Amino acid sequence: MSRFKTDILILGSGIAGLAIAIKTAIAYPNKKITVVTKAQESESNTKYAQGGIAVVWDKLDSFQSHIDDTLKAGDYLNDMEVVNMVIKEAPACLEKLINWGAEFDMDTKGDLDLGKEGGHSAHRIIHHKDVTGLEIELTLLEQIEQLKNISLLPYHFAIDIITEHHTEEKKIISPDEEINCFGAYIMNQQTQSIDTYVAGVTILATGGIGQVYASTTNPTIATGDGIAMAFRAKAKVSEMEFVQFHPTALYKPGESPSFLISEAVRGFGAYLRNKEGKRFMLDIDGRAELASRDIVARAINMEMLRTGDECVYLDCTHLDKEAFKNHFPNIYSKCKRIGVDISRDSIPVVPASHYLCGGIEVDIHGRSSIKNLYACGECSRTGLHGANRLASNSLLEALVYAQKIAEDIIAHPAYLEPKKVAIPEWNEEGTTAPDELILITHNRKMVQTIMSNLVSIVRSNERLEKALDQLNYLYQDTEKLYAKSKMSPQLAELRNLNAIAFLIVTQSLERKENRGAFFSLDYE
Ligand SMILES: Cc1cc2nc3c(=O)[nH]c(=O)nc-3n(C[C@H](O)[C@H](O)[C@H](O)COP(=O)(O)OP(=O)(O)OC[C@H]3O[C@@H](n4cnc5c(N)ncnc54)[C@H](O)[C@@H]3O)c2cc1C
Repeated sequence: MSRFKTDILILGSGIAGLAIAIKTAIAYPNKKITVVTKAQESESNTKYAQGGIAVVWDKLDSFQSHIDDTLKAGDYLNDMEVVNMVIKEAPACLEKLINWGAEFDMDTKGDLDLGKEGGHSAHRIIHHKDVTGLEIELTLLEQIEQLKNISLLPYHFAIDIITEHHTEEKKIISPDEEINCFGAYIMNQQTQSIDTYVAGVTILATGGIGQVYASTTNPTIATGDGIAMAFRAKAKVSEMEFVQFHPTALYKPGESPSFLISEAVRGFGAYLRNKEGKRFMLDIDGRAELASRDIVARAINMEMLRTGDECVYLDCTHLDKEAFKNHFPNIYSKCKRIGVDISRDSIPVVPASHYLCGGIEVDIHGRSSIKNLYACGECSRTGLHGANRLASNSLLEALVYAQKIAEDIIAHPAYLEPKKVAIPEWNEEGTTAPDELILITHNRKMVQTIMSNLVSIVRSNERLEKALDQLNYLYQDTEKLYAKSKMSPQLAELRNLNAIAFLIVTQSLERKENRGAFFSLDYE
């Protein structure tokens, strides 16, 4: 067990974590910035983002139009100040990303090519083919490499943030008292040592929670670790009931995570049809296939329940094949590999868990309710998305809040001063190596099954109560394992998934009306 000191500790290497690291490293060449990430450097939800970033760029578009679309998609539960701020600061943040080297597709006139996606009333999606996230992730990693005051540590798993609860007095404090963050306990996955990282400020940039469901577009890293750590430390976590299901994940039983067929394909003109060939979205919403995600996902779910079919179909056969290939090379070749020729066959699709709108509550500077702890990106709840995120507003939110957090840290150098507290090493007393990993895998699958069966697109109080009962049993079982087993990433993820499932269920039970991505049979 070792002890490290750093000025800024960032957990996560997606767009949120990397953008903050770059911005603070440039502003503070003499300060040490440490980024830890639990898998390979680039592994993140960011890497798989396809469609792009929503930014008002076209002269015919307006901030007000993007604001209106964001509010409408969010069912007006958004925070107005945040929506205004994010949308207006977006062009400057995008320019910075372009200056760092990110390349986006251009139109024939040499301007940025702007795509359109569901819920947007203008063309404003900046993209790099259908692999926008990968382009951003690689650009940010290249920048990181050039900044000598950043240490990027792959295969380092954050177990818990350090607060008064861990200090030598082991002070138990209530959420009403001031809680401070002093860093985090991090497992070096190569040596298995759980090291103490003491930091001036700590930033949770750990991404989403998709893996709490059996069917998701999110990679295996998306286990809600940062949110669970913050929750254990008594930070405010809210709006967890607003889980967004993407309407069109490729239907391929047995494949996990599910491959995404980007919203931009519908923006490009694809139609949703049932097995009989009917465009059922025409009866549901005036915007048809381009209605917001909650509406389209629910309509598909209803259509599947009505017909008993296992999927619906995305019809691209009327679209220009060469233009499709050029815009969506990744989707085209994935379909081809599984025997779907998009010029002749429709693509089988189903909704899958995709994005969490809620999370760790932060203010307009990205500060959580715990002092010296920020949260950025998908793990945070900023108020931008309200009850349902508008397509391509997520990379945008992470980028703008990375700027806000960097500005806040730079404006308060005192935050980085060392804190006078005695922090003990991670306590492993009384634990032994888990000899039965199967118990952990079994419980993880149980959580996913409960959530997919009982806490999915359509909920009811009865289903939620049943889920809570079953999760309680799993929670107790997992805590028993935790008390006796040596810590491992698998065990930590299971504990975190339990916490995330608990938060989604209990916060769903608290919501007494249908709004955005939350839909219960008990309400109108
Ligand atoms: C298939 C797909 C397509 C998408 N398409 C779009 C799109 O077109 N436009 C858009 O705006 N959004 C899109 N999204 C959503 C968007 O990609 C994410 O919301 C965004 O990338 C989140 O960025 P982040 O930095 O917050 O988290 P991530 O990019 O997920 O990064 C989280 C990081 O934290 C690390 N981490 C997690 N837990 C720990 C731990 N315990 N210890 C150490 N490290 C940890 C992870 O390894 C990872 O490096 C898409 C998402 C998916 C899955």
